Amino acid sequence: MAKVKTAGLGYPRIGEKREWKLLLESYWGGKTNREDFLAQMKELRLARLRKLLLSGIDFVPVGDFTLYDSMLDHSVAFGLIPERFSGLASQDALDLYFAMARGATGAPASEMTKWFDTNYHYLVPEWTASSAPSLASNPWLEAFLEAKRELGIVGRPVLIGPYTFARLSKGIAAGQLADKVRALVPAYIQAISELAEAGAGWIQIDEPSLVTDVPEEHVELLQAVYGQIKAAATEVKLQLQTYFGPVAHLEKIKLLPVDGIGLDFVRDGGANLESIDNSGWPADKVLGAGIVDGRGIWRVDPNAALGKLERLGKNVAADKLIVQPSCSLLHVPVSAKLESTGDPVVRGAFAFADEKLAELVALAEAWEQGTSASPLLEQNREALAALQAHPGRNRDVSSEVGESDRNARAPFEERRVLQQNKFKLPPLPTTTIGSLPQTSDIRRARVDLRKGNIDQAKYEEILREKTKLWIERQEELGIDVLVHGEFERTDMVEHFGHLLDGYHFTGNGWVQSYGSRCVKPPVIYGDVVARDPMTVADSVYAQSLTSRPVKGMLTGPITMLAWSFYRDDLSKAEIAFQIARALNVEVLRLEEAGIAMIQVDEPALREIAPLRKGEWKEYLDWAVGAFRESVGGVQNETQVHTHMCYCDFHEILPAIEAMDADVISLETSRSHGALVEALRDEPYANGIGLGVYDIHSPVVPDTAEMLAVIRSALSVVPSERLWVNPDCGLKTRGEPEAIAALKNMTEAAALARQEL
Ligand code: GLN
Ligand code: ZN
Repeated sequence: MAKVKTAGLGYPRIGEKREWKLLLESYWGGKTNREDFLAQMKELRLARLRKLLLSGIDFVPVGDFTLYDSMLDHSVAFGLIPERFSGLASQDALDLYFAMARGATGAPASEMTKWFDTNYHYLVPEWTASSAPSLASNPWLEAFLEAKRELGIVGRPVLIGPYTFARLSKGIAAGQLADKVRALVPAYIQAISELAEAGAGWIQIDEPSLVTDVPEEHVELLQAVYGQIKAAATEVKLQLQTYFGPVAHLEKIKLLPVDGIGLDFVRDGGANLESIDNSGWPADKVLGAGIVDGRGIWRVDPNAALGKLERLGKNVAADKLIVQPSCSLLHVPVSAKLESTGDPVVRGAFAFADEKLAELVALAEAWEQGTSASPLLEQNREALAALQAHPGRNRDVSSEVGESDRNARAPFEERRVLQQNKFKLPPLPTTTIGSLPQTSDIRRARVDLRKGNIDQAKYEEILREKTKLWIERQEELGIDVLVHGEFERTDMVEHFGHLLDGYHFTGNGWVQSYGSRCVKPPVIYGDVVARDPMTVADSVYAQSLTSRPVKGMLTGPITMLAWSFYRDDLSKAEIAFQIARALNVEVLRLEEAGIAMIQVDEPALREIAPLRKGEWKEYLDWAVGAFRESVGGVQNETQVHTHMCYCDFHEILPAIEAMDADVISLETSRSHGALVEALRDEPYANGIGLGVYDIHSPVVPDTAEMLAVIRSALSVVPSERLWVNPDCGLKTRGEPEAIAALKNMTEAAALARQEL
């Protein structure tokens, strides 16, 4: 049997111990000079390549390393420099690059948005009517030559394809997409030709947009565009790489004029594999078989992976098959070897980027030799069996009641009247989203607690002081519904993960979120079950200080799921419902303790929606169901709030309505107009707060601006249901600016009330 090849599609850039992040921040902070910065970056790049080389994989990705973000690298290489940076364009290339990434005086940074349904954020390419892309530089060539020169590696350069690049750009008008994709082709041809000339054998071109909704006519566009690229670059082979789901129109896409196509066989719901089972694979094409989960942290199940290879083997010759991860390994931490704390059974089942490379090699070898046994695969079986047998995964969660077993709440209008009689709020009530400025004294207290300089009691006393101070401030500001301030939280997901059963926390499981920012997502490994009360004491304390209502504050089940790594033996819906039940225990405890308003935040509800609209209904059904489960069984007089940000809500208004919260607060600074229009067409029946100012900026918005926002919202929501609040929590703001902004906000609400 011919040798089955293996490929890495992309690898984390942050380094084993986040060296990349530290170096960037040291350079930006002026602590490392340019020369040292570039030299150390090169060291990191080469260290990473050495690891890839030693792993034994055949196709080593090059050019996916970046100083900030790969999409930004493409924008710069294609000369797509937004006008506002033109003053910098003639100057230093690196300064310009970081200005585009992070902003410069008078020139706000490029917009950042989520990379498909991952937690990675890319910088959005910007086009204007006059944009004319051409190859201004060839970073892939530089990376290719460096790998060859320094380490003798003939790497496989990774480019994001023209279709995906254009689809993810802004400033391309509807109907203009095809033209813009075509306009990019010469730059791709030149970049690829230069690579071919330098000796590259294969080029990887990522087109993940092929797993989203792809209009039929785009298939023709792709045929034309890849036909052109292929015709111009005859010396080199093209591997068209897709990931994050089943490919739209696979029957046609598999016939595109390229030499190989990579498919995701992990997150495809079986569709990619079925398509090949049913209609085969072109004999002349390489198939990149993504059978190791590039987004999960668990070891691969050898039987499942080899089973997929076996099925593929019926239609694809062994010498045309490449064993690879389902996507770039960018989305998982670097090395599980560094995990030395916490439950050994849980961490024993981890496979991060380095371990996944080893798995690819082991799977390819086993497949080639027609065996399913090898030391590594055996270890995987044992580790996964131990995880499956973990008592944390085998709890009796069936005794929990579902929402249907409880008293259903009365219809909203009835609840509204009951709640109005109870709370007697003015029209246009004011509130905030939950968090208040996390000042340095709070962060210091947390460090002191960890170091043992202060004990838990002292720590809690410091937090309570803050809550007390801010309850007084909120009253003085004239805010109607108060919050305790969330001073105890470092993060809205991790905080609750620590207080629930079923979670594991890694020591070093960092992944890049955006730029130099990394996150360490909690790991849901077992059944999520409530333990002790999580928020009751803080909420009761805050409520004891004031006669105004103080909202209890929790993170909802979908957000808890979305911002964690999670088990793959249960569906996402099942995990979400487990979390929902655990949260519901807390909700009912809060109610029992006299907290009359409870907010359950779901900022991530939209972001993990499927990439294809056709699958939204099913997703939204369970996502909304999980939210309702989390707040199920509360009395009609208890006011349920929720909050969402980061999304275009007008797309999911019916689902938001189905959540049936008494009040929802939304971020609207980015899409106020669109949302107001949507609400005009499709009135929303419950209480709603359209954020009146953007909390991401230190600028204090003035009263008139906020008044204008309230007036426009009043054109679609009556005053007895419209709330006045900021866009999101205030934890990142300084105290003086938060106070000033809230003062203007309550003033704007008062003025708007006078106009009623
Ligand atoms: N209650 C949270 C806060 O105010 C909500 C955060 C969020 O929506 N991302 O910080
Ligand atoms: Zn928010």
